[in-house]
Amino acid sequence: MIHDILPHKLFNDFKTCGPKPTDYLIRYASGKTLLKACKATEKKDSATGTKDDAYNIPRVGELLALEDKKLADFEGHYLFCIDDTAFFLDDSNASRMDQTPPPPAGYEYMVSRTFRNMSPVERLGGATAAHIAHWESQNKFCGMCGHPMTRGEKERSVVCPKCGNVVYPRISPVVIVAVRNGDKLLMAHNIDNPNPRLFLISGFVEIGESLEQAVHREVLEEAGVKVKNVRYFGSQPWPFSDSLIAGFTAELDGDDTIHMQEAELSEATWVRREDIPEYETDVSISCCLIENFRRGFTLD
Ligand SMILES: [Zn+2]
Repeated sequence: MIHDILPHKLFNDFKTCGPKPTDYLIRYASGKTLLKACKATEKKDSATGTKDDAYNIPRVGELLALEDKKLADFEGHYLFCIDDTAFFLDDSNASRMDQTPPPPAGYEYMVSRTFRNMSPVERLGGATAAHIAHWESQNKFCGMCGHPMTRGEKERSVVCPKCGNVVYPRISPVVIVAVRNGDKLLMAHNIDNPNPRLFLISGFVEIGESLEQAVHREVLEEAGVKVKNVRYFGSQPWPFSDSLIAGFTAELDGDDTIHMQEAELSEATWVRREDIPEYETDVSISCCLIENFRRGFTLD
């Protein structure tokens, strides 16, 4: 899954420090991150099953050189590091613009989904940095009094210097569930997902409910069936939607007739184990849950 980056290690404790030229630099504007497009000859063929790493995250020294600046001119702040390479968030004028500024030649502003095709370190680091950048971009002004916010000095937060309001990074809980019906798995396709493959029922946890209650509600809402024996499987950060995803397995309880929620799903169906194709488990817990079922593993 996205957070499994061994032998690399994420160090996300809060601190303030300056960058080295080889550290990563996240320049984030209008919901997109500036990435370096690899030369065509460096692109790998996705049809062969290798990763299409057509973009890389720029380094601090690289962007400073492009703009004829020195390390002393750097405007940005430390986010976290993976091994001994840090991720910094750019605070220069380019990141303060309300619209995406013109990128330097050879670079493009890309959506966070682009990080999914990168190496494990750039995938986790880039997407997590973009999650923080998104949160900061939404909290430039105090929600209590409207005053401009400043960055917290002792923890990852933004603080209102006028009224004292403190805002922490937003992490929204999500549940996802593999519902078994004998040798069949409940699979679905969300209308908003550009990936045409079938995945699992999932959704944001509502205020006032537990993770398990959210599982029961989501399956009933989206597929019209009831579940029992809801069991915790594992969790993962999911920075692409500012989320933490809790994965569960469950069994069908009663009638297996699916009543699909057409406002959210384009398909919901029971898929026999032998008809499920192989899913790569290196990024999402959804694929891990599907593979867990496909390979016949159970947690019971
Ligand atoms: Zn305030």
